[in-house]
Amino acid sequence: RKVIFSGIQPTGVPHLGNYLGALREWKRLQDEADPATTDLFFCIVDLHALTIPRPGKELKAARDEMLAALLALGIDPGKSTLYFQSDVKEHAELMWILACTSSVGYLSRMTQWKSKLQLADTASLTDPEARASLKLGLFSYPVLQAADILLHRATHVPVGDDQRQHLEFARECVTNFNHAYCTPADPAKGGGGGGGGGGGGPSRAMREAAMVPPEMILPSRGAAKRIMSLTAPDKKMSKSDPAPRSRILLTDDAATIRRKIRGAVTDGLGPASYDPVGRPGVANLVHMVAALDPRGRDPATLMKEEGLEGCQLADLKEFVSDKVSEELTPIRERFESYMSMPWDIKIEIEKSTEVAQKSAARNMRLYKEAMGLC
Ligand code: ATP
Ligand code: MG
Repeated sequence: RKVIFSGIQPTGVPHLGNYLGALREWKRLQDEADPATTDLFFCIVDLHALTIPRPGKELKAARDEMLAALLALGIDPGKSTLYFQSDVKEHAELMWILACTSSVGYLSRMTQWKSKLQLADTASLTDPEARASLKLGLFSYPVLQAADILLHRATHVPVGDDQRQHLEFARECVTNFNHAYCTPADPAKGGGGGGGGGGGGPSRAMREAAMVPPEMILPSRGAAKRIMSLTAPDKKMSKSDPAPRSRILLTDDAATIRRKIRGAVTDGLGPASYDPVGRPGVANLVHMVAALDPRGRDPATLMKEEGLEGCQLADLKEFVSDKVSEELTPIRERFESYMSMPWDIKIEIEKSTEVAQKSAARNMRLYKEAMGLC
């Protein structure tokens, strides 16, 4: 079977980058999936959000907002298994198991925890005091992410380009787990292997538990894979960026979208042209409309055919604002109606949560059998 898994942190209302890089792909995969051969799991990864601590009330509100946003953009709990990570305890359990075969060296080389530390000066990472204050949860976050993916035995993971390293790490976890628990012991060396393999080939338990390396699915539109910040086009657009003007929220109204795009950092290099290296701020705006283009034209063609090549940057910004608003308006309207429902929005995913719990329990049993834990 094809098993699709992806997650998003409830660290704020999703932005245009999340939408183009991941969430719109979730919806497309959901709508194209044949239920006879494909399972889809979409998870609001609230345990990950704890790596940047904040008051419980705020996290609760952010979880509800994220759920409302996913429902509003068309993730349908009748077709996709949509749930909160903290409602399925096996995510944390599998993380521990994977942590026991993950190397600290590999994790140290990963870049995302470094950027999340928000140490403007990376030299301070070598400062022993700064390093000592690094929280274990933030450092080991890729292990939890690998557990998320491997818990449902995902074969495909639709994510934005920033997740490349994390996917590679999840594949590394597969190799480590299979080596430790699904490979028969070498009688010459003694030890190694698990699950009572004895001599000869792998046991039934080992064969059933053996993990499959997941594949990354990047957005089908190349322009969508990394949308950059409106205030700093060398950084990706992020929910956790302290500058609210750096991102367009799925819930922004047309006037707000226009204001943010008018204020987007570009350059003083004259009329519009498409040059991702020399003019990253301008290219980022063009990428937004290319990603939304119903005809799927590449950025350069779209610019020529829409008369944007050589136009004033102010006119390009108006064009981009209109296209973005057109896409987001219906999502915002549905979001508002979910947020004003008189009952707890979690009711929408009660059944879905049970499906996720059953899948997790079934796979965890396979893993534990191979490991000799049951
Ligand atoms: P945070 O700053 O809290 O990490 P985020 O904006 O990076 O928030 P995540 O919840 O970490 O969002 O990621 C959710 C999904 O959105 C992932 O698949 C990620 O690859 C994708 N994504 C995040 N930012 C962008 C972006 N700027 N462009 C394209 N895809 C993105
Ligand atoms: Mg992120």
